[in-house]
Amino acid sequence: MTNPLLGPWDTPFDIAPFDRIEDSHFAPALETALTLARAEIVAIAEDPAAPDFANTIEALEASGKALSQVLAVFYTVAGADSNPTRQALQRDFAPKLAAYSSWIYAQKALFARIEALWEARETLDLTDEQARVLMLAHRDFRRRGAALTGADEARMQAIMARLAELGTQFTQNLLADEAGWHMGLDEGDLDGLPDFLVRSARQTGADKGLDGPVITLSRSLIVPFLQFSPRRDLRERAFAAWTARGAGGGETDNRAIAAETLALRQERAQLLGYDSFAAFKLETEMAGTPGAVRDLLMQVWKPAKAQAMRDADRLTAMMHEDGVNGDLAPWDWRFYAEKRRQAEHDLDEAELKPYLQLDRMIEAAFACAHRLFGLEFRAVDLPLYHPDCRAWEVTRNGAHVAVFIGDYFARASKRSGAWCSAMRGQAKFPEIQGPVVINVCNFAKGDPALLSYDDARTLFHEFGHALHQMLSDVTYESVSGTSVARDFVELPSQLYEHWLEVPEVLAEFATHAETGAAMPKALLQKVLDAATFDMGFQTVEYLSSALVDLAFHEGAPPDDVMARQAEVLAELGMPEAIVMRHASPQFAHIFAGDGYSSGYYSYMWSEVMDADAFQSFMDAGGPFDAQRARSLEANILSRGGSADPETLYLAFRGAMPGPEALLKGRGLTA
Ligand SMILES: [Zn+2]
Repeated sequence: MTNPLLGPWDTPFDIAPFDRIEDSHFAPALETALTLARAEIVAIAEDPAAPDFANTIEALEASGKALSQVLAVFYTVAGADSNPTRQALQRDFAPKLAAYSSWIYAQKALFARIEALWEARETLDLTDEQARVLMLAHRDFRRRGAALTGADEARMQAIMARLAELGTQFTQNLLADEAGWHMGLDEGDLDGLPDFLVRSARQTGADKGLDGPVITLSRSLIVPFLQFSPRRDLRERAFAAWTARGAGGGETDNRAIAAETLALRQERAQLLGYDSFAAFKLETEMAGTPGAVRDLLMQVWKPAKAQAMRDADRLTAMMHEDGVNGDLAPWDWRFYAEKRRQAEHDLDEAELKPYLQLDRMIEAAFACAHRLFGLEFRAVDLPLYHPDCRAWEVTRNGAHVAVFIGDYFARASKRSGAWCSAMRGQAKFPEIQGPVVINVCNFAKGDPALLSYDDARTLFHEFGHALHQMLSDVTYESVSGTSVARDFVELPSQLYEHWLEVPEVLAEFATHAETGAAMPKALLQKVLDAATFDMGFQTVEYLSSALVDLAFHEGAPPDDVMARQAEVLAELGMPEAIVMRHASPQFAHIFAGDGYSSGYYSYMWSEVMDADAFQSFMDAGGPFDAQRARSLEANILSRGGSADPETLYLAFRGAMPGPEALLKGRGLTA
């Protein structure tokens, strides 16, 4: 019997035949696909012909197709519709795939071919995209240590193994410290807390087998507690425990782990030929260098701090009116900010919700894509992995562009959050393949399903990623769609969120579920105003973390991370009443693995670009300016990673983005 995962798929749009796939098919399909992929790699590496672009780089592009096909289907269902079998398979597959990846980068004969092509690149008569694909392959192998030999190669393996251990230990310590603390509340301590918080404090107490309600260090409990509890002494106790995670001494202390991690990263970077780990990490990003990151962050820091200081004065005055004297402390900020929010921006989610129907918001996202890019969406009936999934064929002037799948509702089998992935990326080599793109969200079901404003923004955000995949128009799949630098990938998604805020879009699509009336202007204004509330605080707590992250990874690694952190904060003049969003012993983004190390800045980098990019529409003919839309598609959305992001942005905008539009968007222009 043939395994349906391995195809060929005789289905509409060549989409995976979900109605024939069973869980028992995944493991054997993976084994077959891995064997096939390894054989393809060996054939390329051992090709007796002299290396050329076709027999090496294009051959690599064409290899592993069965593997990508199997994994695309597997990861789709493992993320959006898991079950114990799929979870077990996921645990099983992870080390096999890691071993496969290490095996490829250890192929010395393959690297020698890539290296030879790289050396001869000027003579190969490559297109710009081919030159880019060659550069990326060469850089990728070099960064993975393919050029190292002998003692250096062995040392690199030891460093990588130790870093993996340290990352796991860091996470486990943090979890242990979080699980190891709770604060019991008496009935009287519940005064002033909203119902949802009281309920979840009681539930948490019961889950722990305790008599009364408790507060733990889980973000969903501690943050609302700090926001709502009028008991300053309890806020201080909870805040102290929250900020001491990973720094309490003893077995679960993360400070020495952080220091060892930084030292090993520096050694790794130097083995690979870089001055610092930040230089190594930023090489593949749009920002390029630590200096460029620092420049941008500091341009935002000054106005953000000024705004935070103005807000601190305001909150201090509120606290004094409350009869509490002295300085505003970090455990006071959220409490008085919440009081201020209620006084100034009383936005009632319940009043807003009936205007945000899921189906109307999907229509809104499609309508904007039609006005901007001429795309049309036609619902199609395809057998998918879950009855909640819906599919559309996307066309333009009658020609097929993509298949778009939306899986919007929360369910127990789906992991949390929202994401966009391509079940098949766009490519023209070795043959034309149209993208199959999926958006997965966790919205509450209902009849009709209603969204919060955050949900609606998430829907537009993920659809922005989907457009990046669907409008991709490159030759090689390795550079198609969202295969771009991390500090560039959120540009299309965050940019698309701006169209949700266009008044004419909301006027047409945000209609009341029962009355059909359009959302009142005053309500819309409240929504927009609330978006900039307390941005001084939020920007300062974020930027201080990003700047400490950067300092840690530049130059000589610190022996004492806390001392270095204190030094950076002192140089910045950190406001007394605000602490880093993630202090070093809790900074899992940068220490639980190296995903966001010297990369925590990237959220803001993307925001600077999306604000600037949308401003360019407003400076031209408005949000639907046809020339701007054409330029966005031609220079960014269709290009994927086929050129370096700075070149793409310059072609779209004519200049690199400055922070002005972001400062305005965050309400930081005094
Ligand atoms: Zn995103």
